[in-house]
Amino acid sequence: MSASDGEQDAETDVDEPKRKRPKVLQKYLPGYQVKYPAIRHSSVSENHAYCTVCRCDFGVGHGGMGDVEKHIRTTKHVVKAGSGASCARPIQNFLTNS
Ligand SMILES: [Zn+2]
Repeated sequence: MSASDGEQDAETDVDEPKRKRPKVLQKYLPGYQVKYPAIRHSSVSENHAYCTVCRCDFGVGHGGMGDVEKHIRTTKHVVKAGSGASCARPIQNFLTNS
């Protein structure tokens, strides 16, 4: 008895070609300002946000909120935010979830 246990790979590999992906840029959302009060709507475009701390516009078209968070963490922003704020008290859960 030949036990040729040939387990076949019955994986249905559906190879979806990811081409012709529509480039949909994310727009500025009011929620950004709720989470980060320093962020405003930019006058550059609806795919931009304006930082009142750095006084600069940056794109949010690719990462959305992620782009905002990325900007908040940049050295440039951290330094400016730190030097300007006299009260070094972060607002912790100021807005309690209702
Ligand atoms: Zn900034």
